[in-house]
Amino acid sequence: MLVNLNGKLVEKEEAKISVFDHGLLYGDGVFEGIRIYDGNIFKLQEHIDRLYNSAKFIMLDIGMTKEQMIKETVRVVAASKIKNGYIRLVVTRGAGDLGLDPRKCPKSFYFIIVDNIKLYPEEFYKKGLDITTVAVRRNISEAINPQVKSLNYLNNVLAKIEAINHGRFEAIMINNQGYVTEATGDNVFIVNSGALYTPPTYMGALEGVTRNTIIEIARKLKIRTEEKIMTRYDLYTADECFLTGTAAEVIPVVKIDAREINGGIPGHITKKLIKEFRKQTKILGVKVKY
Ligand code: PMP
Repeated sequence: MLVNLNGKLVEKEEAKISVFDHGLLYGDGVFEGIRIYDGNIFKLQEHIDRLYNSAKFIMLDIGMTKEQMIKETVRVVAASKIKNGYIRLVVTRGAGDLGLDPRKCPKSFYFIIVDNIKLYPEEFYKKGLDITTVAVRRNISEAINPQVKSLNYLNNVLAKIEAINHGRFEAIMINNQGYVTEATGDNVFIVNSGALYTPPTYMGALEGVTRNTIIEIARKLKIRTEEKIMTRYDLYTADECFLTGTAAEVIPVVKIDAREINGGIPGHITKKLIKEFRKQTKILGVKVKY
């Protein structure tokens, strides 16, 4: 494991940050999770674009251009020699005083961790997940907008805790109007009568890079694909269901709140999309010269 600590490449043990950093004190910062597949940083540009949009929303000056950030990311990946792994890119408000005022943090701080990824057991991809909806509601857009990938993940952590308390691996979060948003760290899709549906991001979901890749793939495969406002009814009665995310990739869901989906086995459109997605991961993105 190697870390780019604000421009300096260091080992894990040396990668330390100030206890006065507002990223730690207030969750004041933004981040990205990115995958490396066979030396290809999958959709790096898209992740950097989202990072800068998140930063803009919270009025955080990253202090470097997107091109420089891409260079710094590629540099640490090359130095790590990791060809298949995970990148965690974090930008914090930086060190300040103990008050909230971000103006007291003169300079933002970034770090980029490159690590091996522990994939979910292959069994989950073959058999599918049994998940639950939870009582914790997704943040409303007027509070911390879920389209911002900020360091404030307590809303998602609380949903995850609730799922675990129910003996489930993952949760689907509903918004305060009763509409389906997303899972705690993944977007959600359903298939109905051969068409693919996912909730619009304004309902309270992050615009996932994997989500967008799946939409592109589905459209190329001539599968009708639409953003659709959904309730739990749509989940329970779906022909197929799956989650998408950088870490989880594309993972089938076979049970939601004790209702079986597709007789409890992954559906064929889901399997087709997984196959196509895996091909794309090695093609789209930035190739690293090691
Ligand atoms: N929703 C949330 C809340 C997330 O944190 C993530 C990223 N882990 C996703 C969806 C999926 O986004 P992506 O495909 O870009 O990883």
